[in-house]
Amino acid sequence: MRSLPGNHMASSETIRILNIQRMSTEDGPGLRTTVFFKGCPLRCEWCHNPESLSYSLEKEWIETSCIRCLICLKHCPEGALSLVDGQIIINRNLCSQCRKCVVNCPTEAMKALGVDKDVDWLFQDLIKDKAYFGTSGGVTFSGGEALIQAKAAAVLAEKLKSAGIKVAIDTCGHVPYHHFEMLLPHVEMFLYDLKLIDSKQHEALTKEPNQLILDNLIRLNQAKKTIWIRTPIIPGATDNETNITGIASFIKENQICFERWELCAFNNLGKDKYRRLGIPWRYDEAKLMEKKTMEQLTMAARKVFGDEERRIIWTGATRLEEN
Ligand code: SF4
Ligand code: SF4
Repeated sequence: MRSLPGNHMASSETIRILNIQRMSTEDGPGLRTTVFFKGCPLRCEWCHNPESLSYSLEKEWIETSCIRCLICLKHCPEGALSLVDGQIIINRNLCSQCRKCVVNCPTEAMKALGVDKDVDWLFQDLIKDKAYFGTSGGVTFSGGEALIQAKAAAVLAEKLKSAGIKVAIDTCGHVPYHHFEMLLPHVEMFLYDLKLIDSKQHEALTKEPNQLILDNLIRLNQAKKTIWIRTPIIPGATDNETNITGIASFIKENQICFERWELCAFNNLGKDKYRRLGIPWRYDEAKLMEKKTMEQLTMAARKVFGDEERRIIWTGATRLEEN
């Protein structure tokens, strides 16, 4: 398994997050507040949250906010910044993450990615949203991967549960199972990603095989928590019937008790983020999925269980019909 930098399991008092998003309707049932944890054990080629991949504290340069005053260059003690053809270039090999460029930038064009937050601070911040959660909403731990910081996540989840707030975990599943066990007493449900059923393809496209993910889902199924399966439908990667029916057969054969299985259409919202981070993205020019492909894949999955299987749906935007 990928070893992540940082002592992310040592602390039960702080959590490294990217941000907190309120009024979300896409991260579980009802209205939710989503906490995006920093760091992920997978490297999915299509990831639309590249800023969440590394556990390290990072920064990005936002071109449209920059007035080219070069104050950041003057404050950088490592000489890690330069102006090339009107662009501020960050030499990540030289950068010591002192954040002097972030603090001194007058326009917030140099933006910090990642901050360590005290569990008590997070609890006080999240509890403010309790009124709008209603009976079905709550807090979702997403990322990145919340379960790589399982110890602190469990402390926060326990506090939220004690305050009557339901907690969901959005997970890629690629962590040791005892990380799940730390959260189980405090969590209502899991949003569980199954991307590719063929382990070699999984490794080629996410940098890790899928055996641990499949084994963990079988074990999690025994815990009798609500499970939503999620499969990103990515052009040229996961968008074929062999993959979808393979995942369906795995779910059926292992009697995974799922409440819902979402086929999530690829979105290209990560495009600008990759540009700001200065990382090339192979899906930069990729089009959205066609509606008919999403419908066909959904039907193929349903057929494995029986044509009337309505727990399987597709979500997301699709491209306009071409004449
Ligand atoms: S300090 Fe901020 S506004 Fe000035 S050049 Fe650097 S990034 Fe741009
Ligand atoms: S974080 Fe510090 S070392 Fe890195 S680019 Fe900014 S000022 Fe330079």
